[in-house]
Amino acid sequence: MARNQRITGLVIAILGVVWVASTYAQPPARTIEHVSGGLYKFTNKFHASVFLVTDEGIIATDPINAEAAAWLKGEFDKRFGKPVKYLIYSHHHADHVSGGDAFGAEEIVAHENIVDDIEKDKVPTPLPTTTFSDTKTITLGGQSVELIYLGSGHSDNLIAMKFPGEQALFIVDIVSAHRLPYRTMGAGRDNLDGILAQIRKAESITGYNKLITAHGAPYMFIAKPDMLGQLRGYIEALRDEVKAAMDAGKSLDEIRRTVKMEKYQHLFLYKQFLPLNIDGMYTHLGDKP
Ligand SMILES: [Zn+2]
Repeated sequence: MARNQRITGLVIAILGVVWVASTYAQPPARTIEHVSGGLYKFTNKFHASVFLVTDEGIIATDPINAEAAAWLKGEFDKRFGKPVKYLIYSHHHADHVSGGDAFGAEEIVAHENIVDDIEKDKVPTPLPTTTFSDTKTITLGGQSVELIYLGSGHSDNLIAMKFPGEQALFIVDIVSAHRLPYRTMGAGRDNLDGILAQIRKAESITGYNKLITAHGAPYMFIAKPDMLGQLRGYIEALRDEVKAAMDAGKSLDEIRRTVKMEKYQHLFLYKQFLPLNIDGMYTHLGDKP
């Protein structure tokens, strides 16, 4: 285990250096990667979604943006020759669900809280045709996807998508495989306790062995389910360290210099994102009375 972890850490470190040096400024082109069975991962620059191809059509998820979705629809037609029957939104953020009309989906499914936020933020994508409150299962061509509401934190309409036939779970934004949380961790917008509760709720989901995330370390997009607990552990430990330093009267500058989180240095973008994560945590904690 320790050896495997070291090797994994080394691989991530090498890939990280190569990737940051070569493509951080020039994101990789669009790709489609086969996961297993009818399940595929679609990547567009720094964003990803998944889709399931069945005998009776395709279940697509986040379109990402209009251009990406138009490209993906072309690939659906070329590679599979099947229509999109369902389109599922993970949550309302424009960088994940813009351009949904490109697929011509028969049904668009999302959490019920998404409607107000799509309208309020003027997200350029069609409203869902079907909404749900807690869980919903969609079945097509003998395969299914289970949609699970994660509660309020990073938006109040975020859902997890489980593909039981492929033993896979797709999670967006609250965790990113093998990578530190994004920049300031939604400080000023998201609720930190809510994010932690969303991750805990995702951790309660069982019956899969592949965690697929919408962002993450390049070429390492599939993680084991325990990645959720590892990244929650990181956020909690960072919260505790930053809080202790704030309670001790340290300035943000001092906190940046002293909080190292070395246990997590094998994670992708550790050097780039740790200072930003600290800034974000400082803001999150300062928001509280
Ligand atoms: Zn988001």
